[in-house]
Amino acid sequence: MAVARIFAEETMQLLLTDLFPGARLIVAANRAPFRRVESQHGATLWQRPAGGVTAALDPLLRETGGVWFAAESGSEQDLAVPPEEPSYRVLVLGVPEDVYRGYYTGYANSGLWPLCHNLVERAHFHSRDWISYRQVNRMFAARIASVASAQDLVFVHDYQLALVPGYLRQLGYKGPIAHFWHIPWPPAVVLRLLPERRLLLQGLLQADWLGFQTQESVDAFASAAMAELGVTPCRDGHGLSLTYEGHVTRLAAAPISIDIQKIEELAATRLTQERMVKLREHLALGQEKSLLLGVDRLDYTKGIPARLEGYATLLSRYPSLVGKVQFLQIAVPTRTEISDYRRLAVSVRRRARELNRRFGLPSWPAVRLIEHNLRLDQLVALYRISDVAVVSSLYDGLNLVAKEYVAARIDEGGALCLSETAGAYEELPAAFPLSPLSSERVAESLARALFAPVEERKQRMRSLRAAVTQNTVHTWLGRVLSGVREATLIS
Ligand code: UDP
Repeated sequence: MAVARIFAEETMQLLLTDLFPGARLIVAANRAPFRRVESQHGATLWQRPAGGVTAALDPLLRETGGVWFAAESGSEQDLAVPPEEPSYRVLVLGVPEDVYRGYYTGYANSGLWPLCHNLVERAHFHSRDWISYRQVNRMFAARIASVASAQDLVFVHDYQLALVPGYLRQLGYKGPIAHFWHIPWPPAVVLRLLPERRLLLQGLLQADWLGFQTQESVDAFASAAMAELGVTPCRDGHGLSLTYEGHVTRLAAAPISIDIQKIEELAATRLTQERMVKLREHLALGQEKSLLLGVDRLDYTKGIPARLEGYATLLSRYPSLVGKVQFLQIAVPTRTEISDYRRLAVSVRRRARELNRRFGLPSWPAVRLIEHNLRLDQLVALYRISDVAVVSSLYDGLNLVAKEYVAARIDEGGALCLSETAGAYEELPAAFPLSPLSSERVAESLARALFAPVEERKQRMRSLRAAVTQNTVHTWLGRVLSGVREATLIS
């Protein structure tokens, strides 16, 4: 482990103990940082889902102890983690299958997810799902209230758990609560389509600190709270706060980040170098060949069909690129219980086949589609050999892949095409901008990135790396902790 990372993690620990003496961190998120599964032969296996929240909070929990609450369909699990040296607890609430379906597949992922990404026609709301959503949020609040003391810090995550702060207060919890909303907050006209919007706003406004990925989301939330609940805003030297029924909530734009040192270290290992050589061989990336890369969950918000359309336009406009460029799309299956997602997978496969029929050569596919999850160390090798990473989300809370790609480019090579509607664009305007719904504009962005002079590409990558280095996942957590402390002082 790099000295810088140990230093950053220790600083976070000091920050927690300084700002909240005697506090334990109590995390509530739909997904646990560790999962225990049985192998076919009955052996216990541990899975560790990747992601910014786990990268930020797991080291802190290891040092300070605490509890991470999560939920799954099935029976409760009480785990001491990490398995090799247990130092904190993961409590996975066991939710009856039909209730979990209503809460997670229904209200959260067929309602809030598309609505907050402004894809209103995909959003569906049913009262039975709302009942399940409330029930699971109440389960979280009750279990948290049974272990948390007023000295602790409760940190709730995302759109699955919007009601937890409100329920916790109803149960008499008086300690600090932070809530981080990881996806976009929709504009007022879109939010108005949400039948239960006032109850969601009321729940969230019981947190002391409420974080969003972008300033745009902070502003949209503040406008919604003012319009729907008549909340009074107050702007001071520390930012914006809202007072609702006597409770003050501080709002903050605090874009989440990644463990940059870890990715830079991975990018520099001998194993990665060896992988890069093998991958280049496997993909036949000789001289004068270029690799475009997309890495996404197979989610309709990521704009994958329009991206492939844009790639087709690029190849039609620049026939000399045929046989010279290849698009590698990692498309990790997700939420397959929802029909929109299954349909998307079928349509992406069909488009990839069409592209290969039109532009592929016998020994050179125009597109390769990989439909399974890769580990971070494998992704880092791919990041390093790609000439252009393409992030063309229609809307995206942030997009960590964009940041990971930049962090992995320790050689200052490569280029990033980034959707102007991804949250990460606020921090990364040095990327080649991409307008995701127009195939001509997508093609234009890819062409600009591919044909830009080496010096321009390097200059852009240097600026991107400077931006990413300024805000690591540890800086993010530091901002959250000091923001919550400051918020509890004013309330
Ligand atoms: N990821 C991964 N394996 C894969 C594809 C993606 O581990 O095969 C990780 C990726 O490294 C990133 C996360 O999944 O950390 C995706 O985060 P992002 O913010 O880009 O999108 P989200 O899936 O959260 O909408």
